[in-house]
Amino acid sequence: MRTCLVLPALVFGLAAPATGAQQAPKSPGPAIPRTALVIHGGAGYVARDALSAEDEKAARADLDAALDAGNAVLSSGGAALDAVQAAVHVLEDSPRFNAGKGAVFNAEGGHELDASIMEGHTRRAGAVAGVTTVRSPIALARAVMEHSPHVMLAGAGAEAFADTRPEIERVPNQWFDTDKRRRQLDAAQRKAQARTDVGDEPGRYFGTVGAVALDRHGHIAAATSTGGMTNKKWGRVGDAPIIGAGTWADDRCGVSGTGWGEFYIRNAVAHDICARVAYREDSLAGAAQEVVNTIVPAAGGDGGAIALDRDGNIAMPFNSGTMFRAWIRPDGSRGVAIFED
Ligand code: ASP
Repeated sequence: MRTCLVLPALVFGLAAPATGAQQAPKSPGPAIPRTALVIHGGAGYVARDALSAEDEKAARADLDAALDAGNAVLSSGGAALDAVQAAVHVLEDSPRFNAGKGAVFNAEGGHELDASIMEGHTRRAGAVAGVTTVRSPIALARAVMEHSPHVMLAGAGAEAFADTRPEIERVPNQWFDTDKRRRQLDAAQRKAQARTDVGDEPGRYFGTVGAVALDRHGHIAAATSTGGMTNKKWGRVGDAPIIGAGTWADDRCGVSGTGWGEFYIRNAVAHDICARVAYREDSLAGAAQEVVNTIVPAAGGDGGAIALDRDGNIAMPFNSGTMFRAWIRPDGSRGVAIFED
């Protein structure tokens, strides 16, 4: 089992547990409404020396901007649902993450985008899969939740639904192109050609984005958006738009996952973490740790997840070397991290 993130033990001088999470301190006085936000910009394998200082700075700035966008909603008394959408949208619009602009290429040299959003206390959810012209797939997932009787729309049908929603911005598919993702596609295709078996392999994902928030009313929401995996074919859909796999929120726990999606679907990763909290009364940290660092790798998968509970505890385990992530705790402390330390 690989170890996951150990957070700096800054808050209240406590040593951070090796589970990648800290329990929120108990507040002594009358209950003050507290908010919390955690976001990710994808798990993956980035060697420390492969990330230039300039790229690292830019990625950290994007994560900070996404935190600010989500936190602006939360600190003004807004809903967790709006906060996660706002945070995810900032990362969708950044070319540095695999969601919206900068999404990976599929095998045909195009982009098919997946996203989902869920509100915990109402169990409302919306999702889209394989959309090709929607600038903010998370906005379309939200529209599915609020303006259709369905939870998930895919492909041409999702595009037709987007046609009915004037607030959904459309762009040509090439708008999502970036040179970096093109080079990744070329490399993946060269590698696939050189092999006889062309099955999926770990490490072909990077930069899916997600957010989980706790608002002043004690409500939790989660959202995830992605371009999926490089060189994907046949309309492949990963875990990101699957409620319970890549995204989950209930009234005590929320999760957004990132990693090798097939394993996240097979293990219902996002739901499993929250189910352990609900049914076994596991700590959030323990639940997230066990699912991400034991169950997923034992099945042959890899990746990470961000999770948050109604007390404002945050967990961010991953088993893939890196996970771009950032957080604001209920006490207002915030951070951004990429590597394990
Ligand atoms: N989970 C995503 C997928 O399988 C990829 C990622 O997290 O980067 O589509």
